Amino acid sequence: MTEFLAPELKMFRDKFQHFLNENINLNSQAMRSKSLAKGFYSISHQSMLHDGPATALEMVIARESVASSGILDHSNIIGPDPGALMNCSDEIKNNYLDPMLKGDKKASFAFTENDFKNPTTGELIDSKVTINGKKSYVSRAVDSDFMLVVLNFMPDNSRLVAIVDSNSEGISLNQTFESLDGSTHSEVTFDNVKIPQNLLLKNVQAATQNILQERLEMSAISVGLAIFTVNELTANLLKTHRSGGSLSDREGIRLKYSDLRINTYAARSMLYRTAAILEDNENVINEVTATKIFCTETAFNVVDTAIQLSGGESLIVGNHLEAIFRKTRSMKLAGGSNEILRLNISKGIFEFDSGTL
Ligand SMILES: Cc1cc2nc3c(=O)[nH]c(=O)nc-3n(C[C@H](O)[C@H](O)[C@H](O)COP(=O)(O)OP(=O)(O)OC[C@H]3O[C@@H](n4cnc5c(N)ncnc54)[C@H](O)[C@@H]3O)c2cc1C
Repeated sequence: MTEFLAPELKMFRDKFQHFLNENINLNSQAMRSKSLAKGFYSISHQSMLHDGPATALEMVIARESVASSGILDHSNIIGPDPGALMNCSDEIKNNYLDPMLKGDKKASFAFTENDFKNPTTGELIDSKVTINGKKSYVSRAVDSDFMLVVLNFMPDNSRLVAIVDSNSEGISLNQTFESLDGSTHSEVTFDNVKIPQNLLLKNVQAATQNILQERLEMSAISVGLAIFTVNELTANLLKTHRSGGSLSDREGIRLKYSDLRINTYAARSMLYRTAAILEDNENVINEVTATKIFCTETAFNVVDTAIQLSGGESLIVGNHLEAIFRKTRSMKLAGGSNEILRLNISKGIFEFDSGTL
């Protein structure tokens, strides 16, 4: 699929890759300033190729390029996506979206319920939206300025997103913890938190928009990391091994190595196909979900085998492969566990007649 990219997309990929190669050793703050100055940081809302936000394909190219350079944290190179705030009112744009895109305000996404039988709710009481519930695993909640909270709005239980300032009365972070990939999360309780009605996003697609972007982002990162890993492994296998010759000469190694290339090739093809159809059709939740499952599992399996074939040195803390192993492991749960997502794909076809092959 990458061979079929339009010439301007190939040029964008080359330009971005050149930028990454030149600046890869900068510290995070310097990298962010450079990326902002060159226009890469802002592509999610201002493409470098046309007016308006970057397309799904442009975002995939950018994210895959960063990950295939071995960079695990994108946040200083590519700024946040509008996500659920896409097409919002002028007031929300001025107070939340624009400051978030400039990096002046940070947002977190509160989606996972602590108790699925008692999900977070919102209801209109005295002309304010009143929120109650508990979310279990909100990334970066501790340093976020506002949260996008997915809730069941009463009385009809419609799934809507509310914008909630993190310092609102009634919000408490019960527990803050770090997961194995180094990211920080909190359990967040909403106890009669009141927000004005205009901060409830009435568009029922808002939550889906955030989820689509998150899953496609994880897919692109996974494919980029699989590419980086295969390249690292190739170099490792070509080195002289203490047993004499190089491991790349052994047939048993070659069989395993080829599978990594085959699966990475398949995942990359799937990623670009999904990004391309996402540009023409908004109803692609099943295709994006299938891509998230396949790409995250492929990347995890690729790095797991690459570590095995490279030997114990690759497990030393600080080694690229060790860090990628931790990152790819977390993505099989983050953004929805891959098993639940598999069930959603079946539900899509059996209950909503939706999904392509
Ligand atoms: C790094 C990371 C970042 C995250 N960031 C966020 C965030 O910013 N915001 C947010 O809201 N959440 C976030 N999450 C939470 C994430 O969405 C959840 O971990 C995920 O949805 C799984 O939910 P759970 O952890 O409660 O596991 P559970 O739902 O309890 O699942 C546990 C296991 O049981 C399986 N299982 C559960 N139900 C079924 C079933 N019916 N049939 C078959 N198998 C089943 C699951 O597949 C899984 O293997 C993050 C998670 C991680 C790891």
